[in-house]
Amino acid sequence: RLVLGIETSCDDTGAAVLDERGAILGESLHSQKESTSEVGVRAVFTYKSYYLGDFFCHTCFSLKFCRTGGIIPTVAQQLHRENIEHVVQEALERSGVDPSHLSAVATTVKPGLALSLGIGLEFSQRFVRQHNRPFIPIHHMEAHALTVRMLHPVAFPFLVLLISGGHSLLAVARGVDDFLLLGQSLDEAPGDTLDKVARRLSLRKHPQCSTLSGGQAIELLAKNGDKKRFNFRTPMGQTPDCCFSFAGLRNDITITITKKEKEEGIEQGTLLSCVNDIAAATQHTVAAHLAKRTHRAILFCKANGLLPSSSPTLVVSGGVASNQYIRKALTVITETTGLHLLCPPAKFCTDNGVMIAWNGVERLREGKGILSPNIDVRYEPKAPLGVDMTAEVRAAA
Ligand code: ATP
Ligand code: FE
Repeated sequence: RLVLGIETSCDDTGAAVLDERGAILGESLHSQKESTSEVGVRAVFTYKSYYLGDFFCHTCFSLKFCRTGGIIPTVAQQLHRENIEHVVQEALERSGVDPSHLSAVATTVKPGLALSLGIGLEFSQRFVRQHNRPFIPIHHMEAHALTVRMLHPVAFPFLVLLISGGHSLLAVARGVDDFLLLGQSLDEAPGDTLDKVARRLSLRKHPQCSTLSGGQAIELLAKNGDKKRFNFRTPMGQTPDCCFSFAGLRNDITITITKKEKEEGIEQGTLLSCVNDIAAATQHTVAAHLAKRTHRAILFCKANGLLPSSSPTLVVSGGVASNQYIRKALTVITETTGLHLLCPPAKFCTDNGVMIAWNGVERLREGKGILSPNIDVRYEPKAPLGVDMTAEVRAAA
């Protein structure tokens, strides 16, 4: 069985061909990260007279756009349109698989940017009709959660924490298409917060950080910082559930930065004296928040028999999962609660065609959600993962 996976939910155009054991026969990925930041900055300047800074981000974009300068949905759409044909072709060529030998084509149809999802879906539907292949619509977060099974023999059920630039959620994976959502972010995602703090500190201009993402820059600077110098409140201390919130924390950090700049009588974004300490305190508070919510989720799962008694597992994925300090904080939690912690390598934590193809393989194996090529499928920009249990978690506390 061979599956072609196609991903275009945000700013990466990805495709891959996998066999049923998860061997990657061919893959191709076009990342818009560099082009978008440039184009984004240009677009922000163009619109500057109407919208300023973060106001522009919040009003115009729904997810996490403008993190590095910006993802402009129409620009992302155009880049997907320019790249998709080539990316899919390249993955197929590298795999040496003829489209007629594919068992199915799996494509992300939810959640994500409408304009981006539309390009992948439109291409895929044309492709499956042309080659008369079955079509498997994929939920992007389901794919993130299942990727680990391509690399490790993790049986259902397991607990999963997804932390990236666009998402933060805790869920129990009970089956390929069976999830219990224990909590998710009420506002922004942790990667988004780290990127915004890094931008507020102009870390791109920092000699050590010019090529790093916001999260990576903060991790690096935090190594030489004193996390106790600033005391940011851990979010949602009074809310006994597994949801996340990072916007208030970001506000506290911004206020602290502004105060320091005023004290030193310097321009915005030129603070040098205590960036390491701010980075350390920021990273520490994000880690503490993630760890506390994860701890509560583990206790809820244990109390309700949602995890197996022998070798229960916590899977952590998403770009933020590569942060060693955060991993350490989560390790403390899993060690005290007797869970096994698994984290796929960074390459598989971020968006790509491989994870979509793997989700297709898993669905094909179970015969779930496989459509004939003629059925019209719609994309869904907003689509929660699984059954929402957030209220039950709160009630149980
Ligand atoms: P999504 O997958 O939700 O659509 P995305 O594509 O932005 O969002 P990823 O590519 O998974 O997410 O991850 C990128 C995010 O991870 C960025 O916000 C980046 O700052 C963050 N990140 C990357 N490395 C680290 C690190 N070492 N520490 C903390 N955050 C990190
Ligand atoms: Fe993703």
